[in-house]
Amino acid sequence: MSPKVIIVTGVSRGIGRSIVDTIFQESPETIVYGIARSEAPLKELKEQYGDHFFYIVGDITDAGKLKQLTADAVRDHGKIDSVVANAGVLEPVQRIHDADIDAWKRLYDINFFSIVSLVSITVEQVARSHGNYVFVSSDASTMYFSNWGAYGSSKAALNHLALTIANEEPDVNCIAVAPGIVDTSMQVNIRENVGNNMSAEHHAMFKDLKASNKLLDSNVPATVYANLALRGVPENVNGKYVSYDCNELASFQK
Ligand code: NAP
Repeated sequence: MSPKVIIVTGVSRGIGRSIVDTIFQESPETIVYGIARSEAPLKELKEQYGDHFFYIVGDITDAGKLKQLTADAVRDHGKIDSVVANAGVLEPVQRIHDADIDAWKRLYDINFFSIVSLVSITVEQVARSHGNYVFVSSDASTMYFSNWGAYGSSKAALNHLALTIANEEPDVNCIAVAPGIVDTSMQVNIRENVGNNMSAEHHAMFKDLKASNKLLDSNVPATVYANLALRGVPENVNGKYVSYDCNELASFQK
C-alpha cells in the first residue's frame, strides 16, 4: 500500500509541529504537506524529514496557497488521505461591548473561513481516498472564557462544519477535537499579553496552570490528531466534537 499523504496547517510551532513529528514517529513513510507563515521552522522540518515533508510558506487565508499545496500533493504523490486543520489564533480578546468587527472578521478568516476554503479545495481528492478531516477545536467552543467571544464562536462554527461535512460528504469522515490546555506560545500570549484583557480570575487561572505545571505537553493531543489522520476517523465519532481525552478516542491516545 502506498504511504499516506497528509496536509497539516500551522506546522511552524506548537501543536501543529508536534503533529508532524508524531506522524513521522508513528509512520516514517508518510508524506506530509505543511503550511505556515514562518519560513525558518518549515525549512528545519524539511531538513529533518527530507523527501517526506513538503511545505508552502504562506497565510492560510490565501486560497491560492491552499490550492498550490493541494496541487503539489496530488501532482507529486497522487492523492490526499487526510487534512489536519490546526492553524488558529486567539485574538481579538475583547468584550462584546468593545467589539472591533474587522478584528473578529480577521480571526474568522483564519479560524473558520480558511478551513471552509481548504475543505472545498481538497474534498474531491480526500473523498477519492475515503479520507479524513481532523479539526483542532477548543474547549472554548462550548465553555465561556472571559472576552473570548470571537475565538470561542469561531471554534463552535468549526464544530458545526465537522457535522456538515460528515453529512454532506459520504466518502469522507470528519471530526473536531479539543486539545486540552496546551503548553504552546498561545498560552504564553495569554499569560503575558491578552490575559490582561480578561477577567482577573480567568487570567490568574491560566497563570496558575503554568505555575503548577498542569499545562499539557503538545505531544499529548498531537498523538490523537496524528493517529486520527493516519488511521482514519472512526464511524462512531464521524461529525462529532469531542475532547482529545474522551473514551471514544482511547485507542488513538497512544
Ligand atoms: P501556536 O503555538 O500559536 O501555533 C499556531 C500555529 O498556527 C503556528 O504554526 C502558526 O504559524 C499557525 N498560524 C496562525 N495563523 C496562521 C495563518 N494566518 N496562516 C498560516 N498559519 C497560521 O498555537 P497552538 O497552541 O499550537 O494552537 C494550535 C491550534 O490549537 C489552534 O487552532 C488553537 O486554537 C488550538 N488550541 C490551542 C490550545 C492551547 O492551549 N494551546 C487550546 C485549545 C485549542 P505562523 O505564525 O508561522 O504562521
